[in-house]
Amino acid sequence: MPGAHHGIGMTSRRTRERLISQLREMGVSDPQVLERMRETPRHLFVDEALASRAYENTALPIGHNQTISQPYTVARMTEALLEGGPLETVLEVGTGSGYQTAVLAPLVRRVYTVERIEALLALARQRFRSLDLRNIRTRHTDGGMGLPNYAPFDGIIVTAAPAGIPLALVDQLKPAGRMVLPIGDSKAQALLRVTKTTRGYDKELLEEASFVPLLGGVQ
Ligand code: SAH
Repeated sequence: MPGAHHGIGMTSRRTRERLISQLREMGVSDPQVLERMRETPRHLFVDEALASRAYENTALPIGHNQTISQPYTVARMTEALLEGGPLETVLEVGTGSGYQTAVLAPLVRRVYTVERIEALLALARQRFRSLDLRNIRTRHTDGGMGLPNYAPFDGIIVTAAPAGIPLALVDQLKPAGRMVLPIGDSKAQALLRVTKTTRGYDKELLEEASFVPLLGGVQ
């Protein structure tokens, strides 16, 4: 793809490899996740003015008061989601830049991703198209109640924090399906993995987290 990848050139290879080493040191070990982190061009998911910082292990602003997640967070959540075995369909709540979606999509059969801010979704769609990621379906909607028309899902990933575990989302998991999500407020958040069981759900605390809040309505 000439054009899109230019301007970052050879200098980025070393920067990208450094990011992969950092992810490994921080405990990310799934080879397919590390490969996706290496192959996904994060500089295309941020504004051009921030492209030179795209391979730093930090969240960056994407406008509309939102951020592209920290690479470590994306890698960790993807790994946690895939850990129990392959997934067919995944719902992502909070497309944002589309970076998490692009990392995940080649590892599953289909991703449904929903975003409440239309302007962000429009940019993300262009990125999916230019990267030829064809198994992503996008919806401009409030994902707080999931995507009932397409449920149930094998996995759900939530990239903005609700106050607690949304039961509507648990309901939209298949039996034994899993959901990785942050919960909490601006002061304290935890990253959880919720696994649906016959009697309800199990939850595991993965680590501390810091996400933008899950909000209602669309704009
Ligand atoms: N994974 C994304 C993270 C973006 S930040 C990335 O790497 O770029 C979280 C996103 O969730 C924001 O774009 C925000 O607008 C969106 N969001 C918040 N509440 C939402 C809701 N109820 N439904 C859909 N999207 C929501």
